[in-house]
Amino acid sequence: MASAFLHTPIDYLKGIWTARADMLKKELRIFTYNDLLRFYPFRYVDRSKFYKINEVNDTLAYVQLKGKIVGTQMLGEKRSLRFVAKFMDDTGKMDLVWFQGAKWFSENFKPDMNKEYVVFGRPTEFKGKYNIAHPDIEPVSDENAKTVSGMGALQGFYNSTTKLTARGLDSKGIAKLLNTVISMPGYQIDECLSPDIISRFQLMSKEEAVRQIHFPRTTDLLKKAEFRLKFEELFFIQLKLLKQKSLREKTTKGFVFSKVGDYFNNFYTNYLPFELTGAQKRVTKEIRLDMGSGKQMNRLLQGDVGSGKTLVALLNMLIAMDNGFQACMMAPTEILANQHFQTISELVKGQNIVVDILTGSKKTKHRKVVHEQLRSGELHILIGTHALLEDDVIFKNLGLVVIDEQHRFGVAQRAKMWAKNSQPPHVLIMSATPIPRTLAMTLYGDLDVSTIDEMPPGRKSIQTVHRFDTHRDRVFGFMREQIALGRQIYIVYPLIKESETMDYKDLMDGYESIARAFPMPQYQVSIVHGQMKPEAKDYEMQRFVKGETHIMVATTVIEVGVNVPNASVMIIESAERFGLSQLHQLRGRVGRGAEQSYCILMTSYKLSAEGKLRMETMVRTNDGFEIAEVDLKLRGPGDLAGTTQSGVLDLSIADLAKDAQILYAARNMAQELISDDPHLTKPENAPIVQFFNSYFRSETNWSKIS
Ligand code: ADP
Ligand code: MG
Repeated sequence: MASAFLHTPIDYLKGIWTARADMLKKELRIFTYNDLLRFYPFRYVDRSKFYKINEVNDTLAYVQLKGKIVGTQMLGEKRSLRFVAKFMDDTGKMDLVWFQGAKWFSENFKPDMNKEYVVFGRPTEFKGKYNIAHPDIEPVSDENAKTVSGMGALQGFYNSTTKLTARGLDSKGIAKLLNTVISMPGYQIDECLSPDIISRFQLMSKEEAVRQIHFPRTTDLLKKAEFRLKFEELFFIQLKLLKQKSLREKTTKGFVFSKVGDYFNNFYTNYLPFELTGAQKRVTKEIRLDMGSGKQMNRLLQGDVGSGKTLVALLNMLIAMDNGFQACMMAPTEILANQHFQTISELVKGQNIVVDILTGSKKTKHRKVVHEQLRSGELHILIGTHALLEDDVIFKNLGLVVIDEQHRFGVAQRAKMWAKNSQPPHVLIMSATPIPRTLAMTLYGDLDVSTIDEMPPGRKSIQTVHRFDTHRDRVFGFMREQIALGRQIYIVYPLIKESETMDYKDLMDGYESIARAFPMPQYQVSIVHGQMKPEAKDYEMQRFVKGETHIMVATTVIEVGVNVPNASVMIIESAERFGLSQLHQLRGRVGRGAEQSYCILMTSYKLSAEGKLRMETMVRTNDGFEIAEVDLKLRGPGDLAGTTQSGVLDLSIADLAKDAQILYAARNMAQELISDDPHLTKPENAPIVQFFNSYFRSETNWSKIS
């Protein structure tokens, strides 16, 4: 059986002894042949290409050269002892350097004008000249004149660690192990997709794909192998998510909100404060239809900050009420809960709708009233924090739960809300952290998604510019103009935990220079930072909110809830030290009023390529989704806000930033498969079931969830 071969412990492999096996397990979590085969190269180098010495530069990660050794030298002593070989081709000379094994190399490599070598390694610059330390070096032979070691022109590079390297398991050592496994007579990998899927997407067989991914014969075959393995990886994740979804839909009945009644109609006709945007109308309809379908809704509502999610939530809570149900809305912080309570109370005023709030800080007396009114059904809409999850919060008939800012609530908490009625209520999760579609499909693949992709009309888009520190005088001039127009300004400094004292110094230096450039009494400057007492912070904040100060100098501690519509300029100092999503969030503090707003990103001249791209992206667009796409490309899914806890993102080959098309195809295929063969009982789908069960071994079994 192929699976027996794959599950062979790595300890049994030729070339492995205890110390190596232990290291492979500890450092790379490789326990079996299968784990090793799934440890894919992170890069390939074309070993059929030879560079000339005069073409070498430091943008090349690796180069392969052909030439002769024309001189050698031992340099340094003891720990700095090194062997240097002067290497030459018809375009120039460069040094090859060995620190380890210097003596051995000096004995085995002598100047010889008749002997040609192939050298391979990473060039580094030293005092304006390039050299290669510890290159691979072999005499030219018929074989390596074309390719090295007969493994194909493209050579895979594997991530290793210092500990593994010390035991000879650098990239090359790992490749050797893989070569051993793949060359064994017992090497066999079962196909895990159905013949239909394979022919439809013209996939390479699994066995061939694994061989080619490690030792590709040609670029073309490598591409096919990558496609096959990426497709497979994404397909099984989607199959799992969609299976969970379909199971839930089958086993969990949903309340049917069949009508739109007086609460909704009265509000919509007489109290709606503004015309809904097209996107708000569309998502409201999506939600309403879902809640009327007989399914229990589990839906994610995505929309950038300020896109008007609260109103959409309220409209749907009114529909719940029209069908005889109560609704609740849960926010992650007390500030946000209070904000929602105020907004919603204001919106439903005069319509015989009872709204209340429950948070940790509410007095027992207040709680008692809320509890009673909840049970009697007198209370229609309850807003609150985690406090809503408590066992003594019992509804008469809860029909809709709205959760704001999903990523701070876990699945367990969602489940707790489900249990608040005999049959689970509909759940609407709102997220203001825009995430790319590929990520949403993977993270929230078992949810339906509605997206508000349009801002309310009349918002002036924030103008963003990037300025170097040396242009500070001009920025100050601009600030004076804005203050003269009656506006207020934020100046934000980075706060990075590791170097709080340094940040504090930066902030204080900044504050002093601002205070000098904007002297009292003509100008008033506030300052808020993490080391201040809460009361002092509050006092300073309030002065700015009331318009008593012109400038607010702060670290990023300024709370998300802060809303000062008159502030129209956001200046971000050392902007290169912020991530994209944080820059976007900070910028969202301005542009809340009627005035044209500005965001100025200050950086030094020294900017990494990535830093430059971040600035350019901010200047180019205000669209949170577009920014999230770039962020995903730059940082990978694991680092994006709110995604850290998800194991779904440990992909071994697919890349959510690059493989969107493959993901969509895999998801559609998984969906089609489930519709066509809900229990996967058709014989041609047997390979899929078998692989699914072993792949998600530790989690759910197909038979259990179908
Ligand atoms: P978020 O999606 O960030 O939760 P909010 O629901 O807080 O956004 O709405 C942001 C602001 O936009 C609020 O002041 C709200 O009153 C306003 N708003 C919402 N919808 C509209 C609309 N259709 N037209 C004009 N203003 C709107
Ligand atoms: Mg909101």
